[in-house]
Amino acid sequence: MPQTRLLILLPFLLGTVRSQVNPGVCRYPLGMTGGKIQDEDISASSQWSESTAARYGRLDFDDGDGAWCPDVVSEPRGLKEFLQVDLRTLHFVTLAGTQGRHADGAGNEFAQRYRIKYSRDGSRWVSWRDRRGSQIIEGNENPYDVVLKDLEPPIIARFVRFVPVTDHSMTVCMRVELYGCEWLDGLVSYSAPVGQEMIVRGWHIHLNDTTYDGAMGFSMTEGLGQLTDGSWGLDDFTQSSVYGVWPGYDYVGWSNTTFPSNAVEMTFEFDRVRNFTSMKVHCNNMYTSGVRIFRQAHCYFRSGADWEEKSVSFKPRADIMSPSARFVYVALGHRMARAIKCRFEFSDTWMMISEIAFQSDAAVYNTSLAPRNHGHPTSLHPGGNPTHKTDDSNTRILIGCLVAIIAILLAIIIIILWRQVWQKMLEKASRQMLDEELTAHLSVHTEAISNRLSSSDVESTSTYERVFPLDYQEPSGLRKSPEFQATENLVAAAEASSEQTLPDLPDAVPHYAEADVVKDQEAPGALGYRITAVGVPLAPGRDGALEEFPREKLTFREKLGEGQFGEVHLCEVRGMQDFMNEVEGDQTNEPILVAVKTLREDASKNTRNDFVKEIRIMSRLRDPNIVRLLAVCLESDPLCMITEYMENGDLNQFLSRHELPTSAGDQLHANTISCHTLIHMATQIASGMKYLSSLNFVHRDLATRNCLVGASTTIKIADFGMSRNLYRGDYYRIQGRAVLPIRWMSWESVLLGKFTTASDVWAFGVTLWEMLTLCKEQPFSTLSDEEVIENTGEFFRDQNKQVYLQKPAFCPDAVYSLMRTCWMRNAKERPTFQRIHGTLVDCQAQLLSD
Ligand code: AMP
Repeated sequence: MPQTRLLILLPFLLGTVRSQVNPGVCRYPLGMTGGKIQDEDISASSQWSESTAARYGRLDFDDGDGAWCPDVVSEPRGLKEFLQVDLRTLHFVTLAGTQGRHADGAGNEFAQRYRIKYSRDGSRWVSWRDRRGSQIIEGNENPYDVVLKDLEPPIIARFVRFVPVTDHSMTVCMRVELYGCEWLDGLVSYSAPVGQEMIVRGWHIHLNDTTYDGAMGFSMTEGLGQLTDGSWGLDDFTQSSVYGVWPGYDYVGWSNTTFPSNAVEMTFEFDRVRNFTSMKVHCNNMYTSGVRIFRQAHCYFRSGADWEEKSVSFKPRADIMSPSARFVYVALGHRMARAIKCRFEFSDTWMMISEIAFQSDAAVYNTSLAPRNHGHPTSLHPGGNPTHKTDDSNTRILIGCLVAIIAILLAIIIIILWRQVWQKMLEKASRQMLDEELTAHLSVHTEAISNRLSSSDVESTSTYERVFPLDYQEPSGLRKSPEFQATENLVAAAEASSEQTLPDLPDAVPHYAEADVVKDQEAPGALGYRITAVGVPLAPGRDGALEEFPREKLTFREKLGEGQFGEVHLCEVRGMQDFMNEVEGDQTNEPILVAVKTLREDASKNTRNDFVKEIRIMSRLRDPNIVRLLAVCLESDPLCMITEYMENGDLNQFLSRHELPTSAGDQLHANTISCHTLIHMATQIASGMKYLSSLNFVHRDLATRNCLVGASTTIKIADFGMSRNLYRGDYYRIQGRAVLPIRWMSWESVLLGKFTTASDVWAFGVTLWEMLTLCKEQPFSTLSDEEVIENTGEFFRDQNKQVYLQKPAFCPDAVYSLMRTCWMRNAKERPTFQRIHGTLVDCQAQLLSD
């Protein structure tokens, strides 16, 4: 629905006007692992040898001799050794990751402790300290595990140095990664009078800027600190801060008794001349203790050497009704400047500020999340606090902005409507062509097909979005055999034709497997690194090759559904057993039912490649709980994959149609399903996953929507590459990254893009939870997508603030305990699929005996 999309877009558009960096979300790998940081931007004080040079200090990489190692033995230089990363622009760095040198068992060097130094200009270096003043960060305990450390406070810098702390009893080697996001505010320093001390009922409350990294005298100069750390103070400044340090920690505060001018002057220096829209100042307003938001602010601007005469003034409305801390928005009237000087006038004895952020031309963070505290923004937007109005010129600017937003929204509506009409035309045309082709080519067999079940058609008019494909690790046991050359050739031909005939459409979403190379820690014996499925040859089936199937033998019966690639049809086929050279099973020439997944003809080259990729993957898998690929039609369009037919459709829809029996003695009706059956189904999924994990294969999108149900509640895992439009609400597009099923993903998959069998185990836990709730609600349905991501941050921080999926009403204790183990923070503590399978078999037996 366009209206729904509009509602989704509206906060985003408003967010671009008023958002600021959010440390909870700003945690993207900055490019040591992904390769975005170039070799020439990684340097070091020294290197042990050419093969342990700085460029080998990339986390999770094993190139060279496996890590950066400084030359400390020949000339011990103590804390002088460092590995330096140049991020090219200022970044807000929230997390540091380190690893030692493993080199497939040949290395055993790591840094047990290290320090971080940073610089914004490359000349003035600052030693990072945590909120209690310690510079030492506890590092690695072995050469292979990645250790991540939250940088509290975060760093705003372009250059970051990792300085191993060593007593020379051992050689240190490091591999590192930084996490964060670009610092778009452009603020490089602020200067202000030093914060003071307040005495409340005999308590000394220190209102200084504890994390300020510039020079400190009577004034603070040339640094950044608490006012730009992305965290805001509490309403009651006498309470301990969120970091568990002393009261008043988050605020910088001044008393008017020491300022004869009755104002505090602050100067803000930026990286370049910018066009400023507004400034957000987070102020305390505990008027009962003599603290209030400023009475008036006058701001002056400087682009060159001198301050301009014309200032901007803003007078927030005095508020003695609510003691809540809040953001006060000061409109800066699109003034161009490289520096801004603001005089904040006292309106009471004390003035306290915990955060200042600027919005200028380029400063747009796509992360407008809910605040962690309870501050109320003082907004100039309609819907904000209407009492805080600014002068006429600001109102005009505001109206201008709103008109511009409305114009953009109208344009978006027109584009959406146009795309939908266009999409429908294309779909209709391709459906018509497909129907015509099938009718023309296929001989119609109308013999009785007894067990055909009707399945619901899923109308989807939404546009197609790519989601990440499966992660595939080369199964060591499967090798290409000569009889598979035929299928190989078919796939190669299909790929070649995609290259020749289809336009190379730019993809909106980057391809996950193309972007990352992640080491699967659970697979020591295997190749270790996952590879993109395109390069994976088709595997030999037990019964021979997947040859081109003569499509005229397929008789269209009905549409089963529609997925990312196109429509899925139920077809009747005669002679499939002969074709597949099956030795067991039904050898009569009776027609059988198959599901035919077709690639829509207007598919982009990438979608076409993904389709072929799914074929490649499926052709290698043979397990009773994995949907089997029977044959393919790749020689001409539309490309088809023929799979076994699962008459009860996908597990999500299947369970949604069912209810649990209301009481123990309740008779099972057609639409009731027992707990025992649910566990039986889950056992089958565990069994399929056990098989996948034995091949060192990471599914990455396990969920009920991606499992199919056959006769007698048989379950098979499907969707080896794409997900469906029907479930697009289950996916979330992280800024500039792939569309992700975040509600099923482990914390390390969301925050670090790391997918392993252990993250499949996490998703299995969520799938189990879906099953026990009969898919009546989405996981974490009360949380927004952004809150789900915040929650994964809590899993990482592990301070008991993370929220778990609740135990479903009729879920046996043992099954919920199993789910909880799937969501262990430490991936190594999660059970294997082997164990999960065993536990579920036991649960089934237990339920039968009860
Ligand atoms: P997909 O393209 O795999 O996402 O499938 C789209 C829809 O087709 C799903 O809603 C399924 O219900 C249905 N479907 C896919 N494969 C099969 C199959 N092998 N048997 C029965 N239904 C299927």
